Amino acid sequence: MNDTILVAISPRVRVLLPLPLAGAYDYRVPPGMRLQPGDFVAVPLNGRETLGVVWDGEADPDLPERKLRDVLHAYDVPPMTASLRRFVEWVAQYTLSPPGAVLRMAMSAPAALEPPAPQAGWTLATGPGSNAPPPTGRVTPERQRVLDALRPGEVLPGNLIAERAGVKPGVLRGMADGGWLRPALLPRPLEFAPPDPDHAQPRLGTEQRAAAAALEAAVAARQYGVTLLTGVTGSGKTEVYLDAVAECLRQKRQALVLLPEIALSAQWLDRFRARFGVNPALWHSELTSRTRRRTWRAVAEGEAPVLVGARSALFLPYPDLGLVVVDEEHETAFKQEEGVVYHARDMAVVRARLSDAACVLVSATPSLETLTNAETGRYAHRHLSERHGGATLPAISLVDLRRDPPERGRFISPKLVEAVGGTLARGEQAMLFLNRRGYAPLTLCRACGHRLRCPNCTAWLVEHRAQKRLQCHHCGHAEPVPQHCPECGAEGFLAAVGPGVERVLEEAGTLWPEARRLVMASDTIPGPAAAAEAARAIAEREVDLIIGTQIVAKGWHFPHLTLVGVVDADLGLAGGDLRAAERTVQLLHQVAGRAGRAEMPGRVLLQTFSPEHPVMQALLSGDLDAFMAAEAETRRPGHWPPFGRLAALIVSAEEERDADRTARDLGLAAPGGEGVQVLGPAPAPLALLRGRHRRRLLLKTRRDIAVQPILREWLARVEVPGNVKVQVDVDPVGF
Ligand code: ADP
Ligand code: ZN
Repeated sequence: MNDTILVAISPRVRVLLPLPLAGAYDYRVPPGMRLQPGDFVAVPLNGRETLGVVWDGEADPDLPERKLRDVLHAYDVPPMTASLRRFVEWVAQYTLSPPGAVLRMAMSAPAALEPPAPQAGWTLATGPGSNAPPPTGRVTPERQRVLDALRPGEVLPGNLIAERAGVKPGVLRGMADGGWLRPALLPRPLEFAPPDPDHAQPRLGTEQRAAAAALEAAVAARQYGVTLLTGVTGSGKTEVYLDAVAECLRQKRQALVLLPEIALSAQWLDRFRARFGVNPALWHSELTSRTRRRTWRAVAEGEAPVLVGARSALFLPYPDLGLVVVDEEHETAFKQEEGVVYHARDMAVVRARLSDAACVLVSATPSLETLTNAETGRYAHRHLSERHGGATLPAISLVDLRRDPPERGRFISPKLVEAVGGTLARGEQAMLFLNRRGYAPLTLCRACGHRLRCPNCTAWLVEHRAQKRLQCHHCGHAEPVPQHCPECGAEGFLAAVGPGVERVLEEAGTLWPEARRLVMASDTIPGPAAAAEAARAIAEREVDLIIGTQIVAKGWHFPHLTLVGVVDADLGLAGGDLRAAERTVQLLHQVAGRAGRAEMPGRVLLQTFSPEHPVMQALLSGDLDAFMAAEAETRRPGHWPPFGRLAALIVSAEEERDADRTARDLGLAAPGGEGVQVLGPAPAPLALLRGRHRRRLLLKTRRDIAVQPILREWLARVEVPGNVKVQVDVDPVGF
């Protein structure tokens, strides 16, 4: 017979730490402490107190007792919900990230765990339901005024009671001794006033109403489902999905709205306030740490019914998420490229599924991924075909730059000059769009042909004339504009080549000196206040001519804007990016959609060297469905996304040969087989970035083959030296 030795094992838990570790660590639960999955705890790690979350699953019973450390203490905050824990795990396995690295995004406000200090106040000691002994002492007029100042059950701070009753604070203490009053904790004020779903009811058009009813029903069903909401620019999609938010409020569940550029969303917030009477809670990277903590806690305690945020808002601890809206779902700003590499639109769908919530993806120019999901029936689809209030879509025409070129050294063609001039003469607003910051994208020595490059990146330095500097738009490197060519030393031969918005501004200044001009680019509109001010100035007609980069494409509603001129419509088409055509159509269609959104009809002129290009033809006809259908057919045969799966491995190192060696090793160990293909290694699109040399391998599989297990095995077969980094990017976007 076997000897059975019984060992008393103290209770143990797994704790996930917000660090890039392989998994959860085991800890001992000290006597008297009760823990459940999701609880926030402090644990020792390498001699430091570290915050973690009790995770699901059994701790290892074979781990010797002496190796275990004790949980130090538990925090008094709502535990992380099971749906958020599942989400953290899901994102980790999908993106091949350590779960702790994902958890870190869900704990971006760890100090939120310090509970706010409760404040003391006074309440009536007697009254209905009270079994306190009857008070003693005389009811003076002063005391009576104190008794009158408090309703039964009400708790107020002492100074407020004293002020209301017109007595000295000492009176209150005396009344407490006599048993009239007793100390009590003040209720914590709500951080966010609750939005009122019925504050204002916009009168929706027929199409809007049908779409809104469908979204409301989806929310009321309290289960997972995705709806794609499309509609021409200005069709009123926002009002429609705000109805879904209203329904979510009535259901007493939380709603999350993701916006691609929260800093530019002043107009959106105005509309939210008009609809619901209050501001929503906001979540983005520029919040102060204090606001971040308070918002985090309010969300955890269910006190922020509507949260509007950037992609990181997906990781907030909603107790009962009922709706996730992704506005402008086609936007690449939803892709996070650093750290945990993920696409917030795709993860929003997952978050909704794990929370039994409705998900609404919104765009006038949806991505091919989302359109395909709608076509195959995975997503429901609602479409608004008309602009709100009878506004017409702008008339689009092309300016063939081969036949109608601008004057030498200029960038605005005579046709566009005439159109802008006419618009300004009528007292309407015009916009010139060029998706390039700065003065000129390239500086060239006319003596020796040298081009000024970033020392850290495969990129030209961009002249910013206003700041008298050359800048790299990839690493932030900046230097003064030199007088001499750094290569041949010639003086006065450096020339600006090509236009940026600053140069268009300069040209506009000579063409229309009277016009009041405003540049909208990330360096002139750095944050929410500047965006709100720009929107105000434009709405109040303090601006005649707007000159902007892609910032101007973002959902603005400028009622007096009737003309949009695109200075270089071909700009996004160069390069080997799979989605270059799709993205150019989306961007230019959105920019065009800023024109003629109210009573006055709009007009759009696109300057191009290739008017016959399918992108220009699609914009001209406005038939984006046909364009996307054709785009699908170019991707389907080669199993390119969304008809196949793609993942990128980016190998980087300071020394070029180190990057090359690991890239070659990965190439030699590449997986293969039916429906699996590896492309590369090849130089990555930015072969040098921030001083690191980069190589790329692409894994492409058929749609029915998951890339994650293949990637895991592949990476396990190759030894990566410490000075080389391999970053995994599942579903890469810019390549
Ligand atoms: P989209 O997001 O589809 O481009 P918006 O939601 O921005 O369109 O709507 C365009 C304009 O029409 C906005 O100024 C919006 O406030 C207004 N609007 C849309 N629907 C209504 C409605 N039902 N009642 C009043 N105004 C509306
Ligand atoms: Zn650089």
